[in-house]
Order: sequence, then C-alpha cells, then structure tokens
Amino acid sequence: MKDVIIIGSGVAGTVAARKLAEESQKKVLVLERRPHIGGNCFDKKDEHGIWIHVYGPHIFHTNDEEVFSYFSRFTDWYEFPHKVVAQVGEQQIPIPFNLNTLHMVYEKTKAEEMEKKLIETYGEGSRVPIMKLRENPDPQIQEIAEYVYQNVFLRYTMKQWGQTPEQISPEVTGRVPVLISHDNRYFQDAHQGVPKEGFTRMMEKMLQHENIEVRTGVDGREVLTFAEDGTILFEGKPFAGEVIYTGAVDELLDWKYGQLPYRSLDFRFEYHKIDDYQGHAVVNYTVSEDFTRITEFKHLTGQKDVIGTTIVKEYPFAYEGKEGQIPYYAIMNEKNNALYETYVEDMKKYSNLHLLGRLAEYKYYNIDLMARKAMDLAAKIGGER
Ligand SMILES: Cc1cc2nc3c(=O)[nH]c(=O)nc-3n(C[C@H](O)[C@H](O)[C@H](O)COP(=O)(O)OP(=O)(O)OC[C@H]3O[C@@H](n4cnc5c(N)ncnc54)[C@H](O)[C@@H]3O)c2cc1C
Repeated sequence: MKDVIIIGSGVAGTVAARKLAEESQKKVLVLERRPHIGGNCFDKKDEHGIWIHVYGPHIFHTNDEEVFSYFSRFTDWYEFPHKVVAQVGEQQIPIPFNLNTLHMVYEKTKAEEMEKKLIETYGEGSRVPIMKLRENPDPQIQEIAEYVYQNVFLRYTMKQWGQTPEQISPEVTGRVPVLISHDNRYFQDAHQGVPKEGFTRMMEKMLQHENIEVRTGVDGREVLTFAEDGTILFEGKPFAGEVIYTGAVDELLDWKYGQLPYRSLDFRFEYHKIDDYQGHAVVNYTVSEDFTRITEFKHLTGQKDVIGTTIVKEYPFAYEGKEGQIPYYAIMNEKNNALYETYVEDMKKYSNLHLLGRLAEYKYYNIDLMARKAMDLAAKIGGER
C-alpha cells in the first residue's frame, strides 16, 4: 500500500517523491501520463545525436545553496554564464539591456552621460523594471526607456503574450529588468548551467529509490476519482494517504468553472549541417519575425562530438485546450487568478490533496524555486522523521 500518490513527474513531483521516499520513508507512487519522466525539463538526443530540450530550453540557475547541493547529489554540471542577445536590425545587443548595451546603442559621450545618470538615480548593480524606468521624467532616462520599450519589450511581449506590456502583470515584465551594471549575463545567480548528462538523467536518478514506484503513460485522472463528498478513490477504493497533484486544476475538475487561460508554444526544430548556426545559445527576436527566439542547443549543453547543429524556433499562441497543445505559461491577472481561486476553494474539501507546481498553482516558477517548494511540502507531509 502506498503512503503518497504524486501525479506528474516534473521537477515538482520528482523532488517531492525523492524527499518523501528517502527522508520520511514513505512509499510513493508517481503517475506520469507522458511516456517519459521529467515534465518540461525532459531532454534527449535527436536523430542526429544532438542533445535537445524537447519542451523548450532550460537553464538551471540559483542562489539557493541547499537546492543546488541537493541536485548535485544526482548530477555533475556543465556550468556556463548564460548570455542572451537580441537581434535589433543589424545589431545584436546584450539582454537584459545593461550599461554595455547602452554603449552599443549611443555614441560615447552621450552614453557616458547617460550611464552616470542611471547610476546616480538607481545605484550601480540595481535592476530596474522597464515600466518603472518609463515613469522617470528626466528626458535622457525617458529616451533610454523609450529605446528599451520599443526595441526590447513591445513586440516581443506582443508575440509572447498577445498583449502589450501595459496589459500584462508587472511581475512578468519585471522578470527581465534593465540592469545598471556591465554584467552581460542573463541571470545574476551564483550557479548556472545544465546537468552534464541532461535533466532527464538527473531526474531518473532521483526517482531511483526502493520506496518509489513510477508508472509512465498513466493519466492520474483515470485511476483516481475525486468524489463530491471529499473522498479520493484510488483504483475504486478510498485512499487515505496523501495526494500531490502537479497537473492543471481546471482539468482535474473537468473544467466545471471554465478553462484557465494559458499561452502555449509551437517549437519548430531545424537541423543544419554547419558547425555553428548563431554563435549564441539564445538569440531573441525583439523587433522582427513571428517567432520569439532561436535556441542553438550545442551552446547550452557544450556538446562537441556531433556533426551539424540543431536549433529551435519558438512560436507562441493562445492555448485552447486542443489535443496535443501544452499549457506553458499561466496568464496571471485579476480575472484569471480569481477563476483559479474558485477551483482551489472547491478542492479544499479534499483534505489530503496538495496542489504543487506551475500548473496546479497557476504560476510561473523557475526550477530552483519549484524544487524549494517541493522540498518544503515534502517536509510538511513527511512530518517527523
Ligand atoms: C519554455 C519554458 C522554458 C523554461 N526555461 C526555464 C529555465 O531556463 N530555467 C528555469 O529555472 N525554469 C525554466 N522554466 C520553468 C520550468 O519549466 C518549471 O519550473 C518546471 O517545469 C516546473 O515543474 P513542474 O513539475 O511544476 O511542471 P512540469 O514540468 O510541467 O511537470 C508536470 C508533469 O505533470 C504531468 N501531468 C499533468 N497532468 C497529469 C495527469 N493528469 N496525470 C499524470 N501526469 C500528469 C505532465 O505530463 C508533466 O510531466 C521554463 C518554462 C518554460 C515553459
């Protein structure tokens, strides 16, 4: 008999499973409806032997030493400072927009004057959200803000979210701030890179434990019944253990209050028989093209032993819940969050159900924060050791 059933084997499900199995001696069953584990971090070799991230490029980055050392038990790392450039006309400029970008865009004297002003106003090393920069009445800062808004944010946001930066949550535009520093890295975290043998291998190792059973190709909704009286049945019998659900809440309750809106992505992979396609891991297309960015995997994984290179272009679109579509990004706003809360309220009747993960919590999480939340929940459920 199992103590805990976990639905979903992404970062949330995998970390929670390992913690509960190892540290609290719980018998854990992980149900995953895809034919593989790993959730959206799943990676594999394509038909050319090139290591790809099937559900979009993932770079692990963190300042959380506990999370880093926990993952490091299951993998070595290919560490590299992740850098992103934006293609703006003929120029490739560092993203986030920083003081180096400033010097590429404006001539020397003007750039130096602007740099001084930015440092005086916001402090060296600070991270200023674009919407905040735009509020500054100083004409020179206005000019920078306008450049960044037009060339980095506006069209990219329209492509990614189908809305202008004003229409989306400030939390989202705040994720890529303007950096008052000469640091060209995309993230400023102490640790950044990818697992040396891939995310899937790392997560497989986490799930290899005598107290964990994994069943792939099984939809949790087919074996678990959520009865109206608050009981959860597993294969037709009441299940008194704990259930961690990492899928979408609207789906679990058959969309009874309506569908939660998401943005989805169409990933189009291309193989090129050349050694290097773009010289960077990620190039964002912030003013042109219908795709948002191109990722060249060799630059992410450090892979050298292959002929040619594989890239992926990302085309965002509105998720409609159709067969094969994947909900990637929750569209967080007042209306959608309220709809999400209606589902959560309804689910409170299941006292042994825990909602965990980017889908179940209708939020964006980076891998490290997701792992942290899973560790905390496992400690809570695991109780005394
Ligand atoms: C395009 C993209 C790029 C990203 N890049 C980064 C990055 O570079 N760095 C970073 O830190 N974070 C990144 N993230 C965020 C990262 O993907 C998430 O933090 C992480 O995937 C969250 O894990 P999860 O377990 O909540 O969700 P998921 O990885 O989505 O896992 C959920 C799992 O549950 C399964 N499932 C759902 N419903 C059921 C059901 N009914 N029955 C059985 N199984 C079910 C799904 O099949 C899936 O495998 C990125 C996200 C996206 C969308």
